[in-house]
Amino acid sequence: MAIQKVLIANRGEIALRIHRACHEMGIKTVAVHSTADADAMHVRLADQAVCIGPPPAGESYLNIPNIISAAEISGADAIHPGYGFLSENARFAEIVELHNIIWIGPKPEHIRTMGDKIEAKLTAAKLGLPLVPGSDGPLNDIAEAKRIATVIGYPVIIKAASGGGGRGMKVVTSEDQLESLMSQAGSEAKAAFGDATVYMEKYLGDPRHIEFQVFGDGNGNAIHLGERDCSLQRRHQKVLEEAPSPVITADQRAHMGGIVARAMADMGYRGAGTIEFLYENEEFYFIEMNTRLQVEHPVTEMITGVDLVREQIRIAEGRPLSVTQEDLQFRGHAIECRINAEDPRTFAPSPGLVKGFHAPGGMHVRVDSGLYAGYRIPPYYDSMIAKLIVYGTTREGCLRRLRRALEEFVIEGVKTTIPLHQALLDDPEFQRGEYTIKWLEEWLAEQGA
Ligand code: ADP
Repeated sequence: MAIQKVLIANRGEIALRIHRACHEMGIKTVAVHSTADADAMHVRLADQAVCIGPPPAGESYLNIPNIISAAEISGADAIHPGYGFLSENARFAEIVELHNIIWIGPKPEHIRTMGDKIEAKLTAAKLGLPLVPGSDGPLNDIAEAKRIATVIGYPVIIKAASGGGGRGMKVVTSEDQLESLMSQAGSEAKAAFGDATVYMEKYLGDPRHIEFQVFGDGNGNAIHLGERDCSLQRRHQKVLEEAPSPVITADQRAHMGGIVARAMADMGYRGAGTIEFLYENEEFYFIEMNTRLQVEHPVTEMITGVDLVREQIRIAEGRPLSVTQEDLQFRGHAIECRINAEDPRTFAPSPGLVKGFHAPGGMHVRVDSGLYAGYRIPPYYDSMIAKLIVYGTTREGCLRRLRRALEEFVIEGVKTTIPLHQALLDDPEFQRGEYTIKWLEEWLAEQGA
């Protein structure tokens, strides 16, 4: 069914991103916003806007009754959740569908399965994806934990089944720490996610984080759109992403991509998804699947030419995938810098009035951001205010263009992480693509010294 009007249940750059795809497809948009976001760019550009509550996200962007009411009042026939907020809430997806509103996202049962990390691993194993060795299910008691850790070997990591955002993970280097760290992990998981269930994995010493973009039509057809390297992380949060990964060959991409695409086809997966792996010694280890659009999706768009939001909307309309695996070509190199309103050394948030704003431009430069001069960045939400995405036919060309684009970028009035990205670009190891998930924190520690 052709979608006429999409309610965008999100804010910031991703709300704008979705609005743009909709308008290019001739679809009207409804923005929802908290009272703190009344002046946001996506609210100004949308065809309609509905205020859904006060600034705290729990009372606005996570407020299911208010969002559903906004869809009904505005006559939206579909909802796009973006990323974060309600995007991976299976109950929300079900409620949307119960109201005969099209959910631009995966089937609720798949969101639910992949949202429980133990279920996700069991499902991944059944679908033939390689896993990090560990407990195949929840850890029931300390005796079991000791037994498994002895088999897989220390160090091990204890993780929360309902975890997310890198929270509630404990690395255990020897058996004498196991009991206390396991109980700490359990109580932290209970406090953060309302579920004390934990599981164990082998702790990989120095892996990269490499994820595959997948798309399914919900009827047993699925493709992969290659990988993204997201190893540059601070506190398990991604800082800069690139596609393709500097260390993956075309053969590895075709092989692993083929495995994930087949897995998604077997599952009957619908819409966009990301399969995350740790990669070490040329082996991939599944860690989790995200059943939504990712922040870093533009780097995939740059090297494939596929508009992923458009594809999501088409699939929600019940149309087939617009490209086949054979059609897809991976061309050139793309890098995304996440620009946060933060002090580039201490990472303290720096919300407030944007006094001046000038975005870089030119060939192969894309800025996804809702900023404008005179906009006041509210203190209530994530500090990411812009994404700079740059393409080059080679990685070297991409790095040169990125340096040029960062030089042009002006954001006045608040502190931003632009200087951090500039310093990163000057690092020879980064330039050679030689980094793992630990690299950035070590680099930051050296910079501070
Ligand atoms: P979350 O859902 O909380 O983000 P993930 O399972 O995706 O948790 O892991 C987040 C990050 O934690 C990974 O990108 C990696 O940096 C680190 N990590 C997770 N599991 C392991 C492991 N078994 N060994 C080493 N590092 C890990």
